[in-house]
Amino acid sequence: MPEIINTTFQRSIDRTYNVKSFRFDDQGGIDFRPGQFFQLFLDWEGEELSHFFSFSNSPTEKGYIEFTKKLSDSPYSQALLALQPGARVRIKLPMGIFIFEGEYPEAAFLSGGIGITPIRSICKYLTDTGSSASVRVIYCARTSADFAFRDDFDEMERENRNISLIYMVTGEEHPEDPTIMVGKMEAGAVKRGIPDYSDRVFYVCGPPGMVKMMVSMLKEDLSLPAEKVIHENFMGY
Ligand SMILES: Cc1cc2nc3c(=O)[nH]c(=O)nc-3n(C[C@H](O)[C@H](O)[C@H](O)COP(=O)(O)OP(=O)(O)OC[C@H]3O[C@@H](n4cnc5c(N)ncnc54)[C@H](O)[C@@H]3O)c2cc1C
Repeated sequence: MPEIINTTFQRSIDRTYNVKSFRFDDQGGIDFRPGQFFQLFLDWEGEELSHFFSFSNSPTEKGYIEFTKKLSDSPYSQALLALQPGARVRIKLPMGIFIFEGEYPEAAFLSGGIGITPIRSICKYLTDTGSSASVRVIYCARTSADFAFRDDFDEMERENRNISLIYMVTGEEHPEDPTIMVGKMEAGAVKRGIPDYSDRVFYVCGPPGMVKMMVSMLKEDLSLPAEKVIHENFMGY
């Protein structure tokens, strides 16, 4: 069951030009599973605002809980940017069933933009626990500058031979990095990037429009049965 805790803001970390991670004290240890999310309440100009966020750290990374947000001009983003170290906040946690701890020997993750956050938590957990699960990730963003956690994933790929990522951009024709694919998250890209796709359980995460498109592509174009397609929708509430 989720519970509400009062805790303190530690610090923020820049991930890209418009994406930041925010860390909060874990009060000696908080039980959550990789891929889950929480609700953060903030006071701003006399109002209480709240949003849901996936944990972007893994349960194996102790001393803090972290989420990673694409910043906008919303009041909520302003409230976050105004947080000072030591500020008190309320958090309801943990929630969600978009969880992977290695229970399927072969899995695949499709991420649209900021939907990479729970996938970062999951891949870090698998790496730190020495899981033998084979994981393929297709990480799709608008441009090469939009990939958060690239260094982290590069390090995980070096440490954990069972994890491999493909980077794909939709809004850039000639990325400097030749390993980055240009295109859309369509059936052909999944077939090329993950030739053994039909053996894998798929996890899909991102903004609602992208998730809808990716889920229907997997079920209709690639004929995957519904039980092999698990998704998390970053709905705006
Ligand atoms: C399970 C789950 C997990 C999620 N995990 C993540 C995550 O890991 N990372 C992440 O970034 N998001 C995540 N989200 C989405 C997140 O909860 C927010 O909806 C999202 O970050 C957008 O919030 P926002 O503050 O930028 O914009 P919102 O507050 O949702 O507003 C949307 C837009 O409306 C405008 N707007 C809203 N209110 C006003 C106002 N009063 N005045 C002027 N303009 C306004 C702003 O310009 C803003 O761009 C998750 C959602 C769910 C359900």
